[in-house]
Amino acid sequence: MEYGKDYKKIPALSTASGSTYEAAPGVLVKTVQIANVFLIQDLMVKDSWFLVDAGMPGSADAIISFSEEVLPKGVIPKAIILTHGHFDHVGAIIELVQKWNIPVYAHQLEIPYLTGKKDYPEGSTLPEGIMAKLSPYYPNESINLGEHVSELPPDGTIPFLRGWRWLHTPGHTEGHISLFREEDRVMIAGDAFVTVRQESLYHVLIQDKEIHGPPQYFTFEWEKAKDSVIKLQELKPSVSITGHGKAMEGAELEDGLRELVLRWEEIAVPDRRQNM
Ligand SMILES: [Zn+2]
Repeated sequence: MEYGKDYKKIPALSTASGSTYEAAPGVLVKTVQIANVFLIQDLMVKDSWFLVDAGMPGSADAIISFSEEVLPKGVIPKAIILTHGHFDHVGAIIELVQKWNIPVYAHQLEIPYLTGKKDYPEGSTLPEGIMAKLSPYYPNESINLGEHVSELPPDGTIPFLRGWRWLHTPGHTEGHISLFREEDRVMIAGDAFVTVRQESLYHVLIQDKEIHGPPQYFTFEWEKAKDSVIKLQELKPSVSITGHGKAMEGAELEDGLRELVLRWEEIAVPDRRQNM
C-alpha cells in the first residue's frame, strides 16, 4: 500500500479539532483537524463497530486513540467504509489497515482512485475563500490500497453491518456514497453536502453551522451533485452528519436542505463569472 506522491500533512485547524461526540445512538464523531471520522455500531450485535472515513494525513494516532477511548477494551473496528477517496478522508488509512488488519469498502466507481489507477482533478481556485485558493496544494493523487479495498455490494448493503445501507451520491466524486440508517433516519452524508462553509478559512476555523453544497474546490460535476442532495433530502433525515462541520438535525436540517436545493446555483456552485 502507498499514498500518492503528493501526500503531505496539511496545516489546517478548527476549533472542533480533537472533539468527540455521539450524534445518535451508536454513531460517534471525531473531528480530526478539519475533517470528521465516524465510528458506527451494528446495534444488533455486541461490540460490532465500523469506521467511516479515515481522516487527514498524519492523523492515524488520533484515530487509533479515538477508537481505544470509546470502544470496549480489545474491540477494534471490523472494517473501514469510505464515503470517497479524497485526501482528507483517507489520510490515515494505510496506518489503520496495517494496525487493525481489516478490509476497506468503497463504491465500485471510487476503486480506481484507491488503487493507484486514477487521480482526482487538482483543486480549483475558482471558489472564493482561502481554503479554496490553497486547494491546488492539497494532495489529489490516487493512493493505492491494492487488494485491501473491495467494492461495496451493489444492493446497498454493507458487509457485516446491519441496519445501515449505502446510497450512491455522485457529483463531489464519481463513486461518492452516503450512509443511511432507516430505523431512526440517521444519515452520514459524507461530502454530498456539508454543514460548514468549507472554502473559508474563517468559517472552518470557528465551525459555525450552515448548510452548503459539497466543498467547491474539489467538486466538478454540479448537476450530479444537486441530484444527490435531492436524493438525500427525499429520505427526510432526522439528523445528518457530514464530512466537515457539525451534526445538524430537525427543522434546521430540513429547512437548510430545502434552501440548498432551491437556491443551488447561488449557494452551492462557485461563481463561474469570476474567471470570465
Ligand atoms: Zn471530499
